[in-house]
Amino acid sequence: MSRKFIRNDGRKPEELRRPYKIKLGVVPRANGSALVQSGKTIVMAAVYGPKKVIPKHLEDQEKAILRCRYNMITFSVKDRKKPGPDKRSAEISKLIENALSNVVMLEEYPRTAIDIYLEVIQADAGTRVAALTAASLALADAGIAMKDLIPSTAAGRVNGHIVLDLNKEEEDVEDAIDLPFAYIPSTKEVVLLQMDGIADIEEIEEIIEMAKKGCDKIYEMQIKAIKEKYGSYLEE
Ligand code: UDP
Repeated sequence: MSRKFIRNDGRKPEELRRPYKIKLGVVPRANGSALVQSGKTIVMAAVYGPKKVIPKHLEDQEKAILRCRYNMITFSVKDRKKPGPDKRSAEISKLIENALSNVVMLEEYPRTAIDIYLEVIQADAGTRVAALTAASLALADAGIAMKDLIPSTAAGRVNGHIVLDLNKEEEDVEDAIDLPFAYIPSTKEVVLLQMDGIADIEEIEEIIEMAKKGCDKIYEMQIKAIKEKYGSYLEE
């Protein structure tokens, strides 16, 4: 991989977008919330619960039910997005729900629901990975028992170069590969792996390695954000 390659926004291949920002507690009425910004992509997560399950027949006697709703607001993209649910949003909601169910200790909260609302305020690619990163932070902010946080980012190939955290212009390059990825840092369990494009196995391995390094950087920022808000409690 050439280290001299400079991307359309001035980044080196292994750099996350600028700014990469994490903020906790952005929605005062929610039990927990977080905002993640990666360049021009901005996602907010708000967690409500554990709370009573409505409708009651969905209640699980053994554990909490986790419900995610990913949504892109109409003006999050240049071409106005048709409001309301669609197949893509339903798929992304499910992916995020599945990833999170690997870390949330649902059995601690039987007969309750934990609802996670993920609102994409602005989209420039990488919204599902920003949403997952924000979701695990919002759950932690809500004080929900978890085995670990989940950092998530994408990596891929643009014009023959392996790169981290693709923006929309990069994603739209012909032959580009985009691989959204997430893993649990403490166990190394992969909880999200998708891929657009065609690549050989060596290339895929290289892209995954790049995504893991990106996740490690994001994980450090996630921990820092939690320490900044709850540091005094953690030291007790
Ligand atoms: N996008 C759009 N309209 C849509 C869906 C997506 O303009 O209805 C754009 C948006 O910028 C999004 C990008 O396409 O971030 C890539 O979408 P993809 O489905 O690959 O998901 P993402 O990369 O956001 O997780």
